[in-house]
Amino acid sequence: MRVYLDNNATTIVDPHVFEDMVPYFCQMYGNPNSLHQFGSESHPALRKAMDQLYTGINARDEDDIVVTSCATESINWVIKGIYFDKIVNGDKNHIIVSEVEHPAVISACKFLEGLGVNVTYLPVNSDGVVEVHTLRDFITDKTALVSIMWANNETGMIFPIEEIGAICKEKGVLFHTDGVQAVGKIPVDVQKANVDFMSFSAHKFHGPKGVGGLYIRAGLTLSPLFHGGEHMGGRRSGTLNVPGIVGMGKAMELAVENLDFEKNNVMRLRNKLEDAIELIPETIIIGTKEQRVPNTILVSVKGIEGEAMLWDLNKNGIAASTGSACASEALESNPVMEAIGAEADLAHTALRLSLSRFTTEEEIDFTIEVLKNAVTRLRAISSTYAYAPEWHVSKL
Ligand SMILES: *Cc1c(COP(=O)(O)O)cnc(C)c1O
Repeated sequence: MRVYLDNNATTIVDPHVFEDMVPYFCQMYGNPNSLHQFGSESHPALRKAMDQLYTGINARDEDDIVVTSCATESINWVIKGIYFDKIVNGDKNHIIVSEVEHPAVISACKFLEGLGVNVTYLPVNSDGVVEVHTLRDFITDKTALVSIMWANNETGMIFPIEEIGAICKEKGVLFHTDGVQAVGKIPVDVQKANVDFMSFSAHKFHGPKGVGGLYIRAGLTLSPLFHGGEHMGGRRSGTLNVPGIVGMGKAMELAVENLDFEKNNVMRLRNKLEDAIELIPETIIIGTKEQRVPNTILVSVKGIEGEAMLWDLNKNGIAASTGSACASEALESNPVMEAIGAEADLAHTALRLSLSRFTTEEEIDFTIEVLKNAVTRLRAISSTYAYAPEWHVSKL
């Protein structure tokens, strides 16, 4: 059996999405900006896809959704665009992010720090969530942008986005949220959350790789990252990825249609797996079930390096992760675990299991068996497990 439990890294393309994309490779392949039939015949599908995106996140007609190549691009665009608009060509010099943002946010901020920008990395509590009251204290009249994710890719924890949005609005500070792990898992309403910018990525909600988007509230300017042929209203140049856009639109529509399924069925399977893990002695799961997206578990298994566990699971056909896919090739501790304040032995034993609407009950039952056996076997040969002191949740 092959079991894919790494859906926070990427997801299978829904066959219905793929089906909708197919005609735009070898039949309707024209450049949609061209003034001939080959160009114009993709226009209805593009319009439909944009409608699906607008509806999916509750954008208003006057708002903008700009299609990009991925969420990493959307995130870099917001952060560097704001840098040009508000810092280089303005009087601001400060950005606030949480310390558990995706590397796309953290690395872009580190780059700007090298250019003299002040960046505040907001701390998180032991559940890995920012304490909203700390945000208010850090906002000054120099603050150009607050960027805080909607849901965390490692822990699955949902952040209090509506409260954060309200504080930013009250203080008159622009607010970007990395919505990548929220779209398709929980309801995402950019109006209710008062967000000015939101990044998202098709391949995290059963769409194709290489296409993402940036929501931009009506009336906001943002210097483009790509200058060129004035595509997307001049906001993002580059020939449109027609099959990608068509696929992302369909994936968004299906994601919204399946939100109840996520909340009920995916969550039930996640909880079944989680309950079984909790029965294994000396395991610590980060964050309460209720505050998490329905598909994610981040667990520390005492005495077992995350990589050793991955190896064992992989031998049995099960795909999981120790943390951010971008960092998982190196033997590094889980960065979010570290931010939470976990000691190194805990952070090195992190295992992330992320389900999707394609995960079956049989797959979860199989995973539970394999996981239990792996823990027994690996602990028996673990030099650290036998001598390690007792684990308490207070280690967090
Ligand atoms: C995957 C991910 C990204 C990056 O998305 P890409 O489209 O692969 O660039 C950004 N933020 C979060 C939270 C993610 O999980």
